[in-house]
Amino acid sequence: MTDKKDETQGFANQPPKKRPARPGNLRYPSLGTQARNLGKTAKQIVKNPKLADDNLFNKRMEICKACPAYDAKQNRCMKCGCYLKGKARFEAAVCPLRKW
Ligand code: SF4
Repeated sequence: MTDKKDETQGFANQPPKKRPARPGNLRYPSLGTQARNLGKTAKQIVKNPKLADDNLFNKRMEICKACPAYDAKQNRCMKCGCYLKGKARFEAAVCPLRKW
């Protein structure tokens, strides 16, 4: 028979899980900065809501996939925090490093 108190203490004594390594040791910007970046992109899209064609979208994604700021697991840019599947689809959106 196990004592519930001992189980809890055993769990608490486990070492903390390590976070998975991020490409280039980059971290996402703070949530406030991500919100500002999203706001900037939203303004650009409101001015020109035209969608990028598949050719442009694929070119942008190729550039992103070769970029050290690209988080492949989440398909996000770690420089601005944006989800690239959405951002790269809008013609007016720009890369924060001006790569596209
Ligand atoms: S948007 Fe720009 S900075 Fe972000 S992953 Fe793509 S190329 Fe890199």
